Amino acid sequence: MATLKNVNSRELYMGRLAHGADLLEEITAVCTGNDIKLGRIEAIGAVKQARLGYYDQKTREYGFFTINEPLEITALIGNVSIKDGQPMVHAHITLADEQGKAYGGHLAPQTIVFACEIIVEAFKGPAFRREFDKETGLPLWDMQ
Ligand code: ZN
Repeated sequence: MATLKNVNSRELYMGRLAHGADLLEEITAVCTGNDIKLGRIEAIGAVKQARLGYYDQKTREYGFFTINEPLEITALIGNVSIKDGQPMVHAHITLADEQGKAYGGHLAPQTIVFACEIIVEAFKGPAFRREFDKETGLPLWDMQ
């Protein structure tokens, strides 16, 4: 059964990330710097290179791959919550090459910003906390 909680908007932030920054680290810094512990994230732009993850449901481990070419960020969607007491950004990204062919996956460090326009919506209320989930092996939201 799905478990949901009502959340309410606190603030909206809109801006751009620094050229050459690590995309995931920069989004995390935006959240930490603005005291955002619960919220949602969207972005578009371009990267110089990308590193993405894929969660293997059998081995319960992430595999990572790097794409060493300039790519468009056609969509980045993510959220922020708390893991181990710190804001954790979880984002998935779809990237397109010069022919419009797409790559997608779990955004990992070492994805480097060429240009990026971001919108972050911070929510009020107690932050969701990530705890180890036995069924999936993933740090999922504790909805108790
Ligand atoms: Zn993911």
